[in-house]
Amino acid sequence: MAPTHIPRKRFGQHFLHDPAVIDAIVRAIAPEPGQAVVEIGPGLAALTEPLAQRLGRLTVIEIDRDLAARLRRDARLDVLESDVLKVDFAHVAQARAATKLRVVGNLPYNISTPILFHLLAYAHVIADQHFMLQKEVVDRMVAPCGTSAYGRLSVMLQWRYAMQDVLHVPPEAFTPPPRVNSSVVRMVPLAAPAAVDAAVLSGLVQAAFGQRRKLLRHPLEPWLSARGYRGAFDLQRRAQEVPVAEYLALAQALHADRPSVG
Ligand code: SAM
Repeated sequence: MAPTHIPRKRFGQHFLHDPAVIDAIVRAIAPEPGQAVVEIGPGLAALTEPLAQRLGRLTVIEIDRDLAARLRRDARLDVLESDVLKVDFAHVAQARAATKLRVVGNLPYNISTPILFHLLAYAHVIADQHFMLQKEVVDRMVAPCGTSAYGRLSVMLQWRYAMQDVLHVPPEAFTPPPRVNSSVVRMVPLAAPAAVDAAVLSGLVQAAFGQRRKLLRHPLEPWLSARGYRGAFDLQRRAQEVPVAEYLALAQALHADRPSVG
């Protein structure tokens, strides 16, 4: 496809042009013929083309009407012209007659966190995810407990996925270049994640990390007592010193005490 398209800032359009980077990403994904792969934001098809060559068929989700029209000319592509945040991935899996989808994409950075949270609800129909994101976001996703990057994103995602930072990509690999460094992250849903109510966990980590410099007793004591929690939890720590497993156990205990609290 000729790159005559003028990049649209509102859609976070930064198109990959470096063949070595494109090749490294496709090798990290390692697509096999017949797999049900979905690409978010195919744009000018930098990744789409090599993926379609290897897969034969590919589902793509593109919000930009002009780009979607170009992509429709390729018979190997099932084009969903839509906002990815409105896409029901369980429905896409059904349409592809697949038990599990592989989801990939060089994501629009302005909505990368909402996309990650949207996909959380579909982890049961997803085999794995490979995403290009702002490096700083990937650092937060994979951050271990006790580090300054460890926060809400780390806990919410480490609850459901094993994650790995697989590739660093400099701004020069894109047209136009973004102002930030990028990384590709591999996310594999855990086979047996802790059974936790996502809304309870989300409320808990939001309260805990809302005042991350303070000891937890400041933000969490009132939050927990408002929910009638009377169990033992060491509040003489800062939010970043609490491992994921402890947040999960606390969310489970809260849910068991007061199932209706979100
Ligand atoms: N995959 C291409 C590449 O690597 O060169 C383009 C990547 S560009 C960073 C992000 C792409 O996501 C653009 O094509 C943009 O139009 C599309 N996009 C932005 N917001 C979207 C949304 N809400 N839903 C679906 N696609 C979106």
